[in-house]
Amino acid sequence: MKDYYAILGVSREATQEEIKRAYRKLALQYHPDRNPGDKAAEERFKEINEAYAVLSDPEKRAQYDRGLLGSPEFRTEDLFDLFAQVFGFRSPRTAPRGEDLEVAVEVELQDLLRGKEAEVAYARLVPCEACGGQGGKRVACPTCGGRGVVESYRQGLFGAFVSRSACPHCRGQGHLLAEACPACGGRGRVSREERLTVRIPPGMDENHLLRVPGYGNLGPGGPGNLYVRLRVQPHPQLERQGADLVYRLRVGLAQAALGTRVEVPGLEGPLPLDLPPGTGHGEVFELPGEGLPLPGGRGRGALRVVVELEVPKRLSPKARELLRAYAAEVGEEVAPEGLWEKLKGFFRR
Ligand SMILES: [Zn+2]
Ligand SMILES: [Zn+2]
Repeated sequence: MKDYYAILGVSREATQEEIKRAYRKLALQYHPDRNPGDKAAEERFKEINEAYAVLSDPEKRAQYDRGLLGSPEFRTEDLFDLFAQVFGFRSPRTAPRGEDLEVAVEVELQDLLRGKEAEVAYARLVPCEACGGQGGKRVACPTCGGRGVVESYRQGLFGAFVSRSACPHCRGQGHLLAEACPACGGRGRVSREERLTVRIPPGMDENHLLRVPGYGNLGPGGPGNLYVRLRVQPHPQLERQGADLVYRLRVGLAQAALGTRVEVPGLEGPLPLDLPPGTGHGEVFELPGEGLPLPGGRGRGALRVVVELEVPKRLSPKARELLRAYAAEVGEEVAPEGLWEKLKGFFRR
């Protein structure tokens, strides 16, 4: 994985402001327009933009810091778009792509293991049919003459240079709306309900986003992407600890003392477990490979069975008698028969 901090030359504790400052400086230095025909500079420019795309987004940055960000794919157009956005203009040749969307899908714990086909329902913006996505009747912007950018001469260190920025009048669009389309209110896009079946691969987790290319909002430059986030429902019997699972097994006195064979709920069905005689409260039995998938396809975690000794609250007269006989046999001193009932008014349990 690339070291985005090193690429921008900032520390891992850098503030958003520091990251932006470093990016602006480097992006201008390595922009292909300033380094015509220099392949290395172009690669460097892409890398700088990629680093900034991740580190400027607090959520992506946090994922990257924790090593959870899978290798993100960036299209060259998007990297140039980012540059244009930061510097306040949109290069006229790249129309903006539609926005990315995120949708949550509820899954069960076992779906993380096997994967799942899930139907997702969500709304996305698509071009308004009534106005063909134009937003209504358009006229060319008089301020920029329809170009979307305005130029001004500025004095720099090495003389005057032309500074281009988005036209403030039409906000870089190049046109103004003379009459808004009633179907979309002039926005050019309307919301549409979509249903889509996605294949969730095994080994995914809440922290990962599944990318479905082309299913985001539709923009003039094409569609954005849809990102599917898993929301894992708690399992009724199994607790999660990373890739490991924990099952609390309640056993009776006799079972613990004499040993027994039990079944514990595994992700793929019941699993047999032998408890040896003399199993203690809190003892842990580990079933390797019965947990959740480990990141990077490195097998599975373990299922840990924690023994919880259950002391009976109510005993039949016969069971009480047997326990008394047991106590006498091993020399444990216990309350005489009937004493507890007499005294219980004085004690609080
Ligand atoms: Zn304009
Ligand atoms: Zn419309």
